[in-house]
Amino acid sequence: MLPPGHIAAGFLTAEALLHFTHPELSPLQQNQMLWWGMFFGFAPDLDYFWIFFREQAFTIKNSQKNNHRRLISHAPILWLIAGLLIYFLSRSAYIQTVGLLVWLASWSHLILDSVEDGIMWLWPLSKKQFALSFPPNIIVQDRRFFRHWWSFFQQYLKRLTFYLEVLTILTALIIYFK
Ligand SMILES: [Zn+2]
Repeated sequence: MLPPGHIAAGFLTAEALLHFTHPELSPLQQNQMLWWGMFFGFAPDLDYFWIFFREQAFTIKNSQKNNHRRLISHAPILWLIAGLLIYFLSRSAYIQTVGLLVWLASWSHLILDSVEDGIMWLWPLSKKQFALSFPPNIIVQDRRFFRHWWSFFQQYLKRLTFYLEVLTILTALIIYFK
């Protein structure tokens, strides 16, 4: 999934968390939680910059070898531990809610990445990636930036994840404007 879908999912996660836990936060702080949700919904994909660094380009030549979902930044247990540590070590409702979002918004990302991409749910016990299905890898030869990502996008449009992404964004927009 691309950043807009992950950000929308993080937003929905924060909305749901506020709805179900009713933390003692001011309206301004509740609004900030939506931003934290969007940030942590996207955060696992910050590892793309490490991949770009390794590729020495803003394109990806070898998507198998340079699969960012095999980096520990996409390991569910680390986000769970980080979120719960923040939650249990803090006494402020604000920081505790951020802690829950570190866990839950990042997991919204990892769950969506588990539809067709594959997440190492058992790491560090196993590096096996789990997904509902594994469609053929998106491979792009052209390394010119715009052609590369345009070709990537055209292949991405054929994936179920694309429709899931559109649905996630539309749901977030409806909740936001309602
Ligand atoms: Zn990801």
